[in-house]
Amino acid sequence: MSNFNWCHGPSCHKSRTQDRIRGVKGSKVLRTKKVQQYSDHINMYSYFCSQGCYNDFANTYVREVIALHPRTEALETPIEVVKEQSTDWGGNPYISTRILTVDN
Ligand SMILES: [Zn+2]
Repeated sequence: MSNFNWCHGPSCHKSRTQDRIRGVKGSKVLRTKKVQQYSDHINMYSYFCSQGCYNDFANTYVREVIALHPRTEALETPIEVVKEQSTDWGGNPYISTRILTVDN
């Protein structure tokens, strides 16, 4: 049993590549690519054949996607800023800054 999704790129079927050509002489078409599913792990490459098709989809439907999970206020992560003095390879002192996440 084949397990695949059709690529969701809105222009996937317009890319002029050999692997999209289907049909017989006189009635050939460029067809949307199949995206094989090899595991239950789902990510963007489960629905798009390429980064380009993903970008086309995201740029075409960004308003609808954002409407599903709107952000009306900024998110914040509590942190602690720690200054640490160290020495470089030549023995010269320097101060580095580390940003630590604070668990509440
Ligand atoms: Zn595609």
